[in-house]
Amino acid sequence: MARIGIYGGTFNPPHAGHMEAARQAMALLKLDKLLLMPDGEPPHKEMPQGAPTARERVELLRLAAEGLPGVEVSELEVRREGKSYTSDTIAELKKYHRDDELYLLMGTDMFLSFLQWHAPEEICRRATLAVLQRQEKDPRLQEQLQAQAQTIRKKLGGKVKLLKNDVLPMSSTNVRRMLTFRAQGDMIAPAVLEEIRRRGFYGVNRDLRGLSMEALEEEVIRLLDPKRVPHVLGCRDTAAILAAKYGADVTDAARAGLLHDVTKALPPELQLQVCRAYEIPLDEFSRENPKTLHATTGAWVAREIFGENEAVFRAIESHTTGCPYMNTLQKIIYIADYMEPNRDFPGVEKLRAAVEKDLNRAVLMGLEMTVDMLRQQGRRVARASLDAIAWLKNEK
Ligand code: FE
Ligand code: FE
Repeated sequence: MARIGIYGGTFNPPHAGHMEAARQAMALLKLDKLLLMPDGEPPHKEMPQGAPTARERVELLRLAAEGLPGVEVSELEVRREGKSYTSDTIAELKKYHRDDELYLLMGTDMFLSFLQWHAPEEICRRATLAVLQRQEKDPRLQEQLQAQAQTIRKKLGGKVKLLKNDVLPMSSTNVRRMLTFRAQGDMIAPAVLEEIRRRGFYGVNRDLRGLSMEALEEEVIRLLDPKRVPHVLGCRDTAAILAAKYGADVTDAARAGLLHDVTKALPPELQLQVCRAYEIPLDEFSRENPKTLHATTGAWVAREIFGENEAVFRAIESHTTGCPYMNTLQKIIYIADYMEPNRDFPGVEKLRAAVEKDLNRAVLMGLEMTVDMLRQQGRRVARASLDAIAWLKNEK
């Protein structure tokens, strides 16, 4: 009697987080074999441009799994036509593995929605559910998982194992972003990366410099958290209007507005990884406050990947803290980010009124509001902001 694990997913692309999860699952469940099972093609879902097909994902996954003893890639779901249910997959596997124990691996989100799956009782009859933690372990989540395990045991007579694995937080979406930024580091195995480059998956070989405004917008939207898109488009439009009003380059303003938050979706550890990839020197404040790093990494990505000029670079770089001797474009991006039409906070109307009359006064107001807020929250204020305030007061 062998112990066989089943690990499904889109694996788009297969990355180090998947392989680490596979390795840990092998050890924790004492598996004899682990089947990595990529999903088939979703029937109607439009795949993003440059995405590998299901068969191509199988090939990438084979390369990723090379050298992991006991780990195999299964084409069971890829080969099936039309809609594919996990219950069918498990039933089919059970035919070949009548006397073996099956363990169905899943992440916490999947597990918490398990009762809404197709035929969960069928699955429970044939396999043990093994839950991998893929988020940071917060106590509330642990309670939810325990409660769900109880429900599944009672209602379906199912067997559940909540695995105590170490979390390596890594999402395929972020891996694809890092590929675009050419900062993927060791998130992808060398053989997999080589194949991705050879086949040009995920647009890795495309030159993104000097795109038209429309093409740039499309690329940036792909890289943003969807919730942030209205803010970014609002910032672009506001920046262009202010550039016309205050005599800055309208194109630079619009492009800087579009790109100012291009790396914002990355968590702090990936901000730092971008810095390492580009060898960006970091000051002490940035190292201790990696959340503010998206201004720096965004500026570098705008210049190195999208080929933007120095004016755009500077404007993005200073958009969160400001800095002394800000030029007109820098002021415009700073304030457009603050008061574009989607922003809503006490005092935003005052800022909008100030921008109509006097750009310097509006920037000064914005800086002072930020400093006050940070101090109230007991957080550290960037030196650049204090210097910018002193400089603007002196300019008056
Ligand atoms: Fe920002
Ligand atoms: Fe922003």
